Amino acid sequence: MESKLSWSGAVVAIQPRIRLMRSFDQRDHSYLGYSLRIDGTVDSLSKSYTIGIGKSLQARHGIRAGDLLEGVCSPVGNSDLETVDYYKVSRFQVVKRSETPSNSPPPWVGVPPSLEIYRERGHRRLAAQTYERSCVKCIWGCFMAVEMIIDQWNPSQRKYRRETFCYGPKSCSLYRAGPPRKVPGRKGMSWTEEDWVDEEATRHRSNDD
Ligand code: SF4
Repeated sequence: MESKLSWSGAVVAIQPRIRLMRSFDQRDHSYLGYSLRIDGTVDSLSKSYTIGIGKSLQARHGIRAGDLLEGVCSPVGNSDLETVDYYKVSRFQVVKRSETPSNSPPPWVGVPPSLEIYRERGHRRLAAQTYERSCVKCIWGCFMAVEMIIDQWNPSQRKYRRETFCYGPKSCSLYRAGPPRKVPGRKGMSWTEEDWVDEEATRHRSNDD
């Protein structure tokens, strides 16, 4: 039987937990739930860590930054497919709710929307440095595990990496795209994801939406 670890702590940030599958110019998203960034303890050790929860847990509790939480969890089995450190949360409890956030965005904090809303909004690439510097606490930021099928005729040939994205308003003053991303393909080929891909994915939103 898998051993479970006790965890507890304060939520520093909550963001969607989404995995991206790439196959050259094709992409497909798996909406796994939410990622919580926690300052607290795991197995009695004080640390900062990330923990993945499902969408039904989030729908029930409306977790947001500042909440104090506890439960048990397991270390992630395959870190190529997850950006969080722990997942499989059970015996979950909200120990104390945070006060209503009083910050003026950006970044946006509070209870994140449903995963369906993220899917509807679509994302733009976000420079990794900007994410680290300004967007770690924003509900519109996302740190994705990316799985790439290098050769569609031989799908077992895969590579893995991490990418950062923004689902937030296109007018956000903190936003920086960073360089276009290249997706490796068969026989040394690569596909460059140019700006038009992001424009297409978010065309249905106005600048401030
Ligand atoms: S760039 Fe995106 S993720 Fe970063 S603060 Fe602005 S809306 Fe949030």
